[in-house]
Amino acid sequence: MRFAALGSGSRGNATLVESGLTRVLIDCGLSVKALTHRLASLDVEPASIAAVLLTHEHGDHIGGVAAFAGRYGIPVWSTPGTWRAAGIATEIDLRLFLGHGGALRIGDLSIAPYPIPHDAREPCQFVIDGDGCRLGVLTDAGSITPHIRERLSDCDALMLEANHDPALLRAGPYPPSVQARVGGAFGHLSNQQAAELLDRLEHRALRQLLIAHVSANNNREDLVRSAIAAVSVELEQRLVIAPQSRGTGWLPI
Ligand SMILES: [Zn+2]
Ligand SMILES: [Zn+2]
Repeated sequence: MRFAALGSGSRGNATLVESGLTRVLIDCGLSVKALTHRLASLDVEPASIAAVLLTHEHGDHIGGVAAFAGRYGIPVWSTPGTWRAAGIATEIDLRLFLGHGGALRIGDLSIAPYPIPHDAREPCQFVIDGDGCRLGVLTDAGSITPHIRERLSDCDALMLEANHDPALLRAGPYPPSVQARVGGAFGHLSNQQAAELLDRLEHRALRQLLIAHVSANNNREDLVRSAIAAVSVELEQRLVIAPQSRGTGWLPI
């Protein structure tokens, strides 16, 4: 099993996950041009993707879904709430699932959605099993719930949001209402929240840690790294930070 972020942050998110012959895309918030270009750099034909799964309706996660899935005839999996709130009128091969329901079987992958606190209609994230490996994905969450900790407790790899540094957010360019939203219980995870989650998980067993959805305005790589280093210097040395404007390349699990 392997995965790759194709772009991560408030200007667009998409993550490719592959096991055996199956490839799925988590979110589709990039333009068709950027997506196809970044997929090509991984030697992936868009039409080889079995499904696009949506986490929630914010534009940085669904902005390209109608055009991309429509063009290549890829089924789109969404919670009913996310799809309703997305308001996409384009004819699409839509498959609905419940954000708190059981695992979805798509080819060689088993994909378990779980609910998270975020200011969207029915947001969820995923724990993905394939090849005897488990990848946990968590971005766009304002706080860590006991349920999140439980769902991510046994992963071999994690894609984890470290969106902002609270002091930079307060001193940054956002108006107070946006600062309150981003830093609130239904906003985004800070570096400290991400580190605290890692501290309470079996992080020594993690073979890959991809830090995602890092804010360009309210965070810095050295602050992300020092927050994670406070939990484990070894983990900090091998983590990967997902960039916004290009992909990460394949990350094997
Ligand atoms: Zn987002
Ligand atoms: Zn969001």
